[in-house]
Amino acid sequence: MIGGGQAGLAAGFYLHRLTRDAARGRGGPAPSYAILDANTQPGGAWQHYWDTLELFSPAAYSSLPGYRMPPWTGAGNPSAEHVVSYLRTYEDRYELPVHRPVTVHAVEDHPAGPDGGYLTRTDRGTWESTVIINATGSWRRPFVPRLPGAEEFTGTQLHTTGYRSRTPFTGQRVVVVGGGNSGAQIAADLLPAAKSVTWVTRRSPRYLPDEVDGRALFALATEHVQAVGRGEPSSGGVGSLGDIVAVPPVRAARDAGRLEAAPMFTGFTPTGIRWDDGRTLEVDTVLWCTGFRPDLGHLRPLGLSMDGTTPATDRDLPTRSGDRAGMFFLGYGDWCGPASATLIGVGAPARATVTAATEHLTHTLENGR
Ligand code: FAD
Repeated sequence: MIGGGQAGLAAGFYLHRLTRDAARGRGGPAPSYAILDANTQPGGAWQHYWDTLELFSPAAYSSLPGYRMPPWTGAGNPSAEHVVSYLRTYEDRYELPVHRPVTVHAVEDHPAGPDGGYLTRTDRGTWESTVIINATGSWRRPFVPRLPGAEEFTGTQLHTTGYRSRTPFTGQRVVVVGGGNSGAQIAADLLPAAKSVTWVTRRSPRYLPDEVDGRALFALATEHVQAVGRGEPSSGGVGSLGDIVAVPPVRAARDAGRLEAAPMFTGFTPTGIRWDDGRTLEVDTVLWCTGFRPDLGHLRPLGLSMDGTTPATDRDLPTRSGDRAGMFFLGYGDWCGPASATLIGVGAPARATVTAATEHLTHTLENGR
């Protein structure tokens, strides 16, 4: 398995159960497995988030399979730090074999030939396996759009991945780009410290109804993906309701009229940004909250078939590669399982993945490969 964030740990939980059952003489032999993780500490992306980040949902609706997230006693929803502590306990509790820091550079076909499995090349040696479960998330692949004049801009540009707290922006004129959760949360977070915060979005911000939290998001995403899978009409999933979960700090800033969004700008000046109608704005920092791409560069040597920007997957099991035996994708987004990028949603696709991976392993062994 590549990646030891929440998705990798959820799959680890089901692998742990197979090991436990095998030790008790139940079921078949358990597969041996390792979880390779590039971070130095447990917690996946959560350990890199900004100080004030708040979950969409209460602790009771933010658990991985098997072990509930401990209650959060602070105000609002749990912090990112609470999730890191939960994930650390989770991997200890199930004695998951996480190896870190280990960075996977490339996955290649095993020289034994088709279906002979894979070689995983890392900064700490090469691993052989019949199955690869990719659970690498997207934190290490930030996306920043290219705009004319960006090279001449003398201010600072950074992505969400570089934002830890409002303190370094005290007294600055900051532009926050992006109409999703990160953009809204960071714009609201900056308000008490920055000289000015200009929030820029491609379209008018779309808030989900205030009562919608992670549990409702999970139900909606599941309904959508299942309806599409059955070829039936769907409500349109989470996207039909909006883009931004109105967590309390965002709601407070919005209700105070301090989160008005400006339209997207079209280029830079040496000291700021400009719009097509000739308007300009002097700014110190442009903060790109413009999202991520799945972190799958290590699979380049395999030349996977793509379905647009994501790898092609199996219609019956969206976590399974459409063209590579023993290759799985877990946690990245709805394309590989409803709500699989969330704590509450990744359990079901993780279980299905481990079941399919074990079947593949058994089949391969029975065929003498
Ligand atoms: P990650 O947590 O990114 O873990 C992937 C791991 O893989 C990392 O440890 C990384 O080091 C490792 N890795 C990557 N590449 C390699 C490689 N080549 N070799 C070895 N290791 C590698 N989710 C919720 O469930 N509830 C919420 O309320 C919620 N709120 C959010 C609020 C905001 C503002 C944001 C930005 C996100 C929120 N999320 C929420 C989403 C959630 O944080 C992510 O979807 C989640 O962390 C993804 O988990 P993951 O395990 O797939 O990836």
